[in-house]
Amino acid sequence: MPIALKILLVALIYWFACWIGTLTFYKDFGIAIYWPAAGIAVLGVYFFGRPALISIFITSLVINYFIYLEGYENNLHLLLSISAISIGNTIAAFIGSQCLRTRVLKNSRSLFRLDSVLLFLLFVALIPALITSVTGGLVTYFSGVMPDLFSKIHSWMLADLLGMLLIIPFVFAWVESPKIHFNKNKLFEFLLITGLLAFTGYFIFTDHLGNYMFNFMIAYFTTPIYIWLALRFDTKAISSLGILSIAYISFLAIYGGNNTLGELIDKPYIMLQGFSILIVIIIFIVHSIFVERQQTLILFQKGEEKYRSLFENMPVSLWEDDYSEAKLLIDSWPDEIKNNLKEKVLENPDLFRQLISRIKIVDMNKSSLELYGETNKETFMKCVPEIFASGDPEAFLSVLSAFYTGTSNLEERIMEVKIKRKIRFLTLRWFIMPGHESDLSRILVTIIDITNLKKAEKEINTLNLKLEKKVAKRTEELNRANQELEAFSYSVSHDLKAPLRAIRGYASLITEEFGNDIPGAALHYFKSIGQNSEKMTNLITDLLQFSKLGRKSLDIKEVDSQSLVKNVWEDLTSLKKPANIEFIVHDLPRLEADNSLLTQVFVNLFSNSIKYAKPDSPGKITVSCKSDSEYHEFCVSDEGIGFDQKHAEKIFQVFQRLHNQDEYEGSGVGLALVKRIVHRHGGKIHVTSKKGAGSNFYFTIPVEIDSE
Ligand code: ADP
Repeated sequence: MPIALKILLVALIYWFACWIGTLTFYKDFGIAIYWPAAGIAVLGVYFFGRPALISIFITSLVINYFIYLEGYENNLHLLLSISAISIGNTIAAFIGSQCLRTRVLKNSRSLFRLDSVLLFLLFVALIPALITSVTGGLVTYFSGVMPDLFSKIHSWMLADLLGMLLIIPFVFAWVESPKIHFNKNKLFEFLLITGLLAFTGYFIFTDHLGNYMFNFMIAYFTTPIYIWLALRFDTKAISSLGILSIAYISFLAIYGGNNTLGELIDKPYIMLQGFSILIVIIIFIVHSIFVERQQTLILFQKGEEKYRSLFENMPVSLWEDDYSEAKLLIDSWPDEIKNNLKEKVLENPDLFRQLISRIKIVDMNKSSLELYGETNKETFMKCVPEIFASGDPEAFLSVLSAFYTGTSNLEERIMEVKIKRKIRFLTLRWFIMPGHESDLSRILVTIIDITNLKKAEKEINTLNLKLEKKVAKRTEELNRANQELEAFSYSVSHDLKAPLRAIRGYASLITEEFGNDIPGAALHYFKSIGQNSEKMTNLITDLLQFSKLGRKSLDIKEVDSQSLVKNVWEDLTSLKKPANIEFIVHDLPRLEADNSLLTQVFVNLFSNSIKYAKPDSPGKITVSCKSDSEYHEFCVSDEGIGFDQKHAEKIFQVFQRLHNQDEYEGSGVGLALVKRIVHRHGGKIHVTSKKGAGSNFYFTIPVEIDSE
């Protein structure tokens, strides 16, 4: 909208409001009973912005010029006075609209909330009314137009206040909800209240006070009606009726036949204004309290509806129980029963029956009915306490006594219940709804049917049992096969060792006894027969040790690996110190392991490192260990002849050798044995090596060993 149009529009409305105000001028007193222009001015600036201030200032100048034209003889005085009044009006309108925007409507867009109404009364109505009345009162008093400063300021302020209190809420009420609702009940209530008031009023006023106390009659009629209006009607109806009634009161006061305000101008006049203001304020406060209550109620109802729909449509069975009567019954029992509720009631069937009859099921949802295959909710709800309490009296009494002694949320319980002749497993959980802890009147029970779960669990258990039986059978078979194998290898080794021993024996007999009689070549062959049969005996011994290890159970104890390693080295080198080899041991941990097997690991690794050391150059054998929360990782490294890394996997297999038997003696079982020992402990082994540059053997032993 163009600014000029805004200015014109506000000026017109303001002018009209002033004209209405002049209708309420009391006799020739020159001050209105109420001044709607004060409210229009605030609204004008609120809705149309600062340009409206120009309209208010100019219109106010013109209006006040005509109002005070006859009061002033001096034109300059008149001009100064009306300018001061108009400036006051404009400032008041500006402050009022600012406060309306930033204080009253800042948090809630509605004027009709209790906090907004109170802020409105203070900032938007009272402060601007004070500004206009003080300026107007002072100006007219000092220019001699009005002799009584006090009553003038008073009634000026009250008129403006009334103007704002009536106009601003009226406009906001219609802006906030423009629709009109008519209701027959309200009309009936109105007729009833006014009829009753008129009837009783007739006796009170005609008999005792007479017609001249018209003010009291107005008070008598309007106050109860206004309170009723505030409670029953929406805001726009009340504010509209407020305007009408104040207009009516003013009309009667000014033009009424019996001139109830009397000849005295000031007091009755100000009383009338004050009274009207009081009425308006009361209406708005009562109404806003009521609106807030209604909103809370709506919120509550919505919450309840949400809860209901959740309750009804949950896939879990839900009940709402009421234990309040059962609680009262327990209250009435002597302490010895109360203190030992469960046991005492279980002993006494009569008490038990009494208790069950006091348990009420208030509601249950669809899922509950479906679970029980029932269709009639009401009849089923009546039987439920009996079904449940008698089905598992111990559980029922545990729940009740826990609640009675102040527990509000119980552990869930699994119950076995017969439904339609079939056993079902249910998980039940009870808890007291917040706010019902003292009387136990609302307890929510959730029930989950876990029958299928139980079935599945049972199936898994049977399958597990079957599997365990199978495993046990297979293990037994395996053990038997192992035993047979062990027996076989013992007998084989025994059978092999005896002829071998004989061969070796005869070969050495021949060389010793007939050494001089046989040719040199034959002697050499006999010696070779002896050596090879000895090698074969060693091979068989190693193989036997390897196969035995598979069956030997681990003897896990705490081992000090540092001293173990040192002892192994001492033993290995006590007879013959290896030349050129330096032995270095870093910090090694105490750990859980099989002492003799771990010793075997180091024996095999060290003897390899010594065996495969470089013959001419000096070298080092180093033992170290890194530990974390899961494993100890040992490393045995040497600077020996090494091998090609591509054989790193192969050397842990039985009989796999990389070096020539003539050059380096051995059976090819040592590392296979090491690997088996490490695996039996739950660890791993690997090697990194380079031809001519030495090898590093890494193996791990778990911190916690599963000795199975
Ligand atoms: P052997 O009795 O032949 O030593 P092992 O199982 O102990 O049997 O070792 C297998 C093969 O791995 C050996 O023949 C050798 O070729 C190689 N080997 C083992 N340890 C080392 C090492 N420290 N340095 C170089 N080669 C090694």
